[in-house]
Amino acid sequence: MSEKLSFVSPTANSPWGTYLSQVDRVVPYLGPLARWVETLKRPKRALIVDVPIEMDDGSIAHFEGYRVQHNMSRGPGKGGIRFHPDVTLEEVMALSAWMTIKTAAVNLPYGGAKGGIRVDPKKLSPQELEKVTRRYTSEIGIIIGPHTDIPAPDVNTNAQIMAWMMDTYSMNVGGTATGVVTGKPLHLGGSLGRVKATGRGVFVTGREAARRLGMDLRGARIAVQGFGNVGSVAAELFAEAGAKIVAVQDHTGTIVNSNGLDLAKLVPISRTDGVVGFKAGGDIVPNEDFWNTPCDILIPAALEGQLTAERAQKTTAKLVLEGANGPTVPQADDILAERGVLVVPDVICNAGGVTVSYFEWVQDFSSFFWDEDEINVRLDRIMMNALNQIWDTADKHKITLRTATYAVACERILMARQERGLYP
Ligand code: GLU
Repeated sequence: MSEKLSFVSPTANSPWGTYLSQVDRVVPYLGPLARWVETLKRPKRALIVDVPIEMDDGSIAHFEGYRVQHNMSRGPGKGGIRFHPDVTLEEVMALSAWMTIKTAAVNLPYGGAKGGIRVDPKKLSPQELEKVTRRYTSEIGIIIGPHTDIPAPDVNTNAQIMAWMMDTYSMNVGGTATGVVTGKPLHLGGSLGRVKATGRGVFVTGREAARRLGMDLRGARIAVQGFGNVGSVAAELFAEAGAKIVAVQDHTGTIVNSNGLDLAKLVPISRTDGVVGFKAGGDIVPNEDFWNTPCDILIPAALEGQLTAERAQKTTAKLVLEGANGPTVPQADDILAERGVLVVPDVICNAGGVTVSYFEWVQDFSSFFWDEDEINVRLDRIMMNALNQIWDTADKHKITLRTATYAVACERILMARQERGLYP
């Protein structure tokens, strides 16, 4: 988007281009609502902010930040904040649009939004990280709020960053507005179960998909790309169910063990040294070999665009669980469908996080907090109901689960759009 800034002309192979082609594929299933589909191809509002801070060495650094509100037809904007050196406006547009589809797919009363700062947080001191977070929050403070747009954690952001965001917003409005962000620490209006919710949702939808495929999870071989909050939690839950985690890749490299990696050791080591720190527990292999490691289930839980056409051709997986947002490019989607590989798409597979974010927001407003069992039972029920409805739609039209999810979600969004009508 560098040459000509336009919502409708994506850069080649960009996440926004992937999203637009996913929307194009659903149009034949929208009936008369197709009249409104253009609304999904343009974000409602996009804000670019300058984030200047004084660094520890006394110099002044400027970072570029974004908050995109893609759609608010069904409720306030909702979606995480990403800190990453590769963040662009176009990427945040795609991520915000996927939030619109995701919240509608699981029928949460939200629209979709996303934010990000182009920064490598690993290069900042804790003080610099806090300054970046607070200045960014203050800059986007003109469009976020408990009833308008509610940020949450995403790649490289966590409960501490949400606490700083909540505090900064609260200071600016005068009061304590816990409902302005979700994914907060527990004693600041956070919810039990939120940290593990995304990984748990990947497990719940994956277990159901495996059941429908007739695949036994006991002994099933799983490869996981991305070993943060999503990938590691999903891996642990699948391992508890008897599966073997045979390959894990993170930003430090790739480790494989055909007998299954020992997660009790790998998880804590990965937190400090990355997965390659666990040399004793497996073989370190070149990153590209991750994609042809023999496996039954592949969980891309890192960044967008990882599952390319070439990698889709070589994977031995029968089931792909999209823990990340936008990991599969459209050509790879076609190849996987032709090869009979089932894909549980991001917009349902990783919706557990935003679902428990919704529970957190509801608890903040009612100032009444639920126990973890209640959270997990409700999470499982919402995910299973949504998945079953999507599966019925896929069977009815003989379409992929992704297009079926878009069909269910886009009908809800565009119906709301139509009922609200155009203003003025
Ligand atoms: N960042 C997460 C996602 O991509 C969670 C968003 C939220 O909880 O609002 O779904």
